[in-house]
Amino acid sequence: MRLDDGFERFGDIHSFALDLRLVEDPDGDNAAPHASVGSWGEWRLWVNGYNLCLHDLTFDDDQSRSKDAVTWYLAPLLRWVANNWAPLLHEERFPTPTRHHSARDAYLAVLARRSLDSGAFVPWQAWASRHSIRCAAEGGVIPDFFLRRLEDTIEISWGDRVQPGGDAVSFRLETGVAHPPVEAVAEALDRALEWAVLQPALQDRPWFPDFSQAVTSRSGEGSVDRWINWFIDGSAVDDKLSKIYGCIKSEMRVKSSSIFDVMRRNTYLASPSPAVAMFGSLSPNISSKAARRLLEVTASRMADSPIKATIDQFVEPRPVVDRSPWDEGYRLATYFLEDADALPKGNHLDLDALLAGLEVKVDEERLDGDGPRGVALAGEKIQPTILINTDHSANRYSPGRRFTIGHELCHLLHDRNRAKRVTHTSTPWAPQEIEQRANAFAAMLLMPAELIRRTMSEPGDRVTIDAIIGAARQMEVSRTALIRHLANMGEITDATRDRLLDEISERAP
Ligand SMILES: [Zn+2]
Repeated sequence: MRLDDGFERFGDIHSFALDLRLVEDPDGDNAAPHASVGSWGEWRLWVNGYNLCLHDLTFDDDQSRSKDAVTWYLAPLLRWVANNWAPLLHEERFPTPTRHHSARDAYLAVLARRSLDSGAFVPWQAWASRHSIRCAAEGGVIPDFFLRRLEDTIEISWGDRVQPGGDAVSFRLETGVAHPPVEAVAEALDRALEWAVLQPALQDRPWFPDFSQAVTSRSGEGSVDRWINWFIDGSAVDDKLSKIYGCIKSEMRVKSSSIFDVMRRNTYLASPSPAVAMFGSLSPNISSKAARRLLEVTASRMADSPIKATIDQFVEPRPVVDRSPWDEGYRLATYFLEDADALPKGNHLDLDALLAGLEVKVDEERLDGDGPRGVALAGEKIQPTILINTDHSANRYSPGRRFTIGHELCHLLHDRNRAKRVTHTSTPWAPQEIEQRANAFAAMLLMPAELIRRTMSEPGDRVTIDAIIGAARQMEVSRTALIRHLANMGEITDATRDRLLDEISERAP
């Protein structure tokens, strides 16, 4: 769409849009770098109605002027998008597990520790070259934001970080994160690239043939496999998990095809298959035997026709937009206990009865010590199921198993994709915001405030270790989970929490 101010707009500013325009280079072609010559221009990037490029320019005489677009060569930006097309739109996995939520937070945390652990920084540096737009600066001053795949969305995270050499520019953007659907981002970028290759002013430039080649090769022969490699392994080539996935797929495809059905568009994966989604957060150390078992069990829960279950009436997909997933998990569990009329009459939540009432199957499987702690499966044609990995150390005792079930129940209720499907594996590689929300949900489900009042006469700072042990036994939760939960609910201070955790570690289990 051509705008009045001469920009071409690709996408919808309320979700995701890129505005581009070519402008005559004030310094002429001779001063331009070989790799960008002829592409002087301006661009704006919109997310959820915000223009991330809005900035103030301060001049030598201290006068300042606000601008709504980045002014620089367009070639570096266009080239970066074209060259990184597959990882930009498909790589969900971080180089190493992190407790941080957004890509930008995770990267800045690694950056801060760089001098302590330079070995860990190397893979993150390579990762940033694919996801941090500043890697497309090539000398320009551009806002600080990151793009990466997150399930069926593209996570965009931004903030204000001064760029070396960019002291005169201050971007107005506050720290933030948004999750437009992958279609919105991919289609907008797709059209921007198509527009660029058709610009006569760019076509006779020395850098154009390579760029045009990169635009063409973003789809075509073998691209689906490449996108899946990026999704599963964060790699352009078959890495550990992709190899296991490929073997299992060729064995299982005939019998259980629907588990491998991806929803593809011309130049990207709109939705990964159930199998790919599960592999996306598995540990690279899982054995191929356990991975195969996981897919076989999932396939066995898939049906040809829709499945109805009581849990459906409580299902409410909620993307994590809250900056505090922990609080949200507490809230969701509190509402669920009320809505499902599940608040225990006694001192103990009967999980078996609750799940039977919801028509959710709970199965135990041996999925490896490196396998997921639990798995949540549901969808229009998938029997709602929670798998407990009995090989996982957290599931050795009943309180740990109960916590796993509560955690997976949160995924079944709230972590559905746009196909209303969930095939989630709970591992340190899974998106941390949904993991933290599910942990909070489990804690509040098993230990609602009413139950704590009933099982502990004095849950405050003067609580004794014997009271903790007694209450944990009655609620059938772990002692450490109870102590942390009391602190998170504000019943005890962090100092009391630490004292109790110390005391409990000195006692026999
Ligand atoms: Zn999980």
